[in-house]
Amino acid sequence: MAADASRGGTGANVTRRRFAGAAGAAALVAAGVASIGATRAWASPEEAFQGTLGPREALRLLMQGNQRWARGRARHPNQSVSWRLHVAKKQAPFATVFSCIDSRVPPELVFDRGLSDMFVIRTGAQVLDAGVVLGSIEFGPYSYASARLMVVLGHQDCGAVIAAIEAIESGCPAPGHIQAVVDALRPAYDAAKPRRGDLVDNMTRAQTRLTVQRLKRDPLLRKLIETDGLMIVGGHYDLRSGLVEIIA
Ligand SMILES: [Zn+2]
Repeated sequence: MAADASRGGTGANVTRRRFAGAAGAAALVAAGVASIGATRAWASPEEAFQGTLGPREALRLLMQGNQRWARGRARHPNQSVSWRLHVAKKQAPFATVFSCIDSRVPPELVFDRGLSDMFVIRTGAQVLDAGVVLGSIEFGPYSYASARLMVVLGHQDCGAVIAAIEAIESGCPAPGHIQAVVDALRPAYDAAKPRRGDLVDNMTRAQTRLTVQRLKRDPLLRKLIETDGLMIVGGHYDLRSGLVEIIA
């Protein structure tokens, strides 16, 4: 979490965003030609959005990055040393991604993005549990007016989902706190079990949809949706094609 993030609430977010936009435009006009040299360090392939993206543009950016990744044409934007130094002073992410801990689904690679683009929260099978997880999810859109998109990302062949199915169907509890993940996945199991098709796939998709629904009911996030343009969507990642499909 960033030290410069203030807890200003929705009103402060709106004010800060308007101020940033106006200040940015004024600075460009005032600086004129001199600003071109100053911005070149991150103009290409680095991209500064600074709160200019709405949730739909943010989603388009992520899905374009996903297409590049899936085709083996990743550009790795916003990963240069100069960009790293630039955003060390201030971050302005445009999205929050809540996804699985699976080592094959790192969001920055899957969406071909870099530093200061997204807040990323990861738990086994994107399970929501305990206040700290929800608090980490709320932090981005509450504290940063730039982050108006939230993506819950599930994926094919999710090991946590497979383990939960085994534990539920065998009646043998999983060891340690892994059972907490199993318990949290029970509603997704119950939703998927009566459906036709592959149980692991259906359950993973159900889990993503249920998580999106639950996040939309979260009081703080609901307020940001209703009054501040936050959008929450659910995605499903295919381990083989590398493609993300928006499912909720
Ligand atoms: Zn997983």
